[in-house]
Amino acid sequence: MVEVSDLLERSRRAMPGGVSSPVRAFGAVPGDPPLVASANGAEIVDADGKRYIDLVGSWGPLILGHAHPAVVEAVAQAARKGLTFGATCPGEVELAEAILERFPLGERVRFVSSGTEAVMSAVRLARGATGRARIVKFEGCYHGHSDGLLVQAGSGLATFGTPSSAGVPEQIAELTDVVSLNDEEALTQLFAERGHDIAAILIEPMPANAGLLLQRPEFLAFLRKLTREHGALLIFDEVISGFRVAPGGMTELSGITPDLVTLGKIVGGGMPVGAYLGSAALMEQVAPNGPVYQAGTLSGNPLAMAAGLATLHELAQPGVYEGLEEKGRELQQGLAAALARHAIPANVARLGSVLWLNLQEGEAPRDFGAIDSASAERYGRIHRDLLERGVWMAPSAYEVAFLSTAHTDDHIERILQAFETSIVEAKAALV
Ligand SMILES: *Cc1c(COP(=O)(O)O)cnc(C)c1O
Repeated sequence: MVEVSDLLERSRRAMPGGVSSPVRAFGAVPGDPPLVASANGAEIVDADGKRYIDLVGSWGPLILGHAHPAVVEAVAQAARKGLTFGATCPGEVELAEAILERFPLGERVRFVSSGTEAVMSAVRLARGATGRARIVKFEGCYHGHSDGLLVQAGSGLATFGTPSSAGVPEQIAELTDVVSLNDEEALTQLFAERGHDIAAILIEPMPANAGLLLQRPEFLAFLRKLTREHGALLIFDEVISGFRVAPGGMTELSGITPDLVTLGKIVGGGMPVGAYLGSAALMEQVAPNGPVYQAGTLSGNPLAMAAGLATLHELAQPGVYEGLEEKGRELQQGLAAALARHAIPANVARLGSVLWLNLQEGEAPRDFGAIDSASAERYGRIHRDLLERGVWMAPSAYEVAFLSTAHTDDHIERILQAFETSIVEAKAALV
């Protein structure tokens, strides 16, 4: 057996925070992060051999659960034929076609290796196509860690965005305007003021990176109308929602046609893939056919393409989305009922297999400003307890839970049992 405490210490000596991505360090909740040794289906096994029911799903990609046999087999078969070619491969063409079939607005798709790259590249294309520099994003939406998107709202509408990370020059942050979700008025004012300089509005149509801030359909429709009126593009960042809420993501569910869609997470089936798509007129402006440069040594990697293709194939089986919806509803209702039984103020937002437990009174928030920061503290009171009872939830109150096709009724029952015990024990801190 590996010495686990030693491994944790070694991880922190060898890597900043002991992690390759910050939230994994458990900075926002008590206790050390377990190191994961393996995972299968809906369950994770840590380096001590302890089992957990996973509600994180590697932060979104694992809609089929861990190590799905069809995906693993597809990757293994691809690996035997070569790990990377630096040339177009058959699986790449097949996955491109499978994506375009699910997103009919797309006539061309370009593969990259992460969601960050997908959004960064779509923004570059939007700027290239419109000849404009400014971008509009929403408070609480996350679009990866490229400079221009690590930006927070300045003080008041008239000011420009300010960097939300050290190392992002003000001159770059200034090109991004940050507005509140669900606020038509602020957008109208912003576009009246500088609409002619705005290349695109960028939104997660299902905002799921600061809780789950479900938008009114009218708000998304308003974005479409406003961008058209001002000659700006509308970019749907579907890195989480793509293939998650429906085969064609929020684009399909909302019936709204954006100009560009960015994908990641599920499209790689657990391997590093991102993609962006749009009309031929837009996408042909990307190199080599057009002047917008974008490239990648490992883009369209054959193993990643095989994993994505196998995942989309499994998702196309009958009843998959209905099953996810049913399990999502079961978990949502169970959580809400337990919270109600113990008179704990909370709401549970959900769309399909994506859930957010928010430990504050009232309706689920629709914008970032409506989230009570005390709810995060309350979440911290139950996170460790749930983990010890074998339920692996995100180590941050602002992260959503993901169900997969591998979650059974038994898993959900066990989650609900652990949850009820945990909230009863922490009750004094939750009311
Ligand atoms: C995860 C995420 C990204 C970034 O994807 P990475 O693969 O982590 O770079 C971008 N947009 C959204 C909506 C995401 O959830």
